[in-house]
Amino acid sequence: MIKKDLELLVSLQDIDLMIEEVGDVEKLGFSVTGYTELKKAREELSASISKPLLFRYERLRGKLKRAIVPVKNDICLGCFLRQPTSIGVKGREDEQIFTCENCGRMLYWLD
Ligand SMILES: [Zn+2]
Repeated sequence: MIKKDLELLVSLQDIDLMIEEVGDVEKLGFSVTGYTELKKAREELSASISKPLLFRYERLRGKLKRAIVPVKNDICLGCFLRQPTSIGVKGREDEQIFTCENCGRMLYWLD
């Protein structure tokens, strides 16, 4: 269940970053297609993510460009701090979402 939510969150973040990119290009005075489609995709996707998780994500996104980052070889790829192995063991299981103690980002494991 949580794993599925994490995947959705990662996709949501991708879309959010694309929306930001499109917005930046528009600010330069270029007209961009796809903005409406991106917004619509975001709406649909966020509707299938559990509300508390979405809230947590939104709050993090207020502070950080990326709210959810991968962990590779026990390293948080948001701040490059090594994560305790015990968290890695639990994090690969299905039960809860872990955040990096250093940068506060939500974590998912690549390996
Ligand atoms: Zn971190």
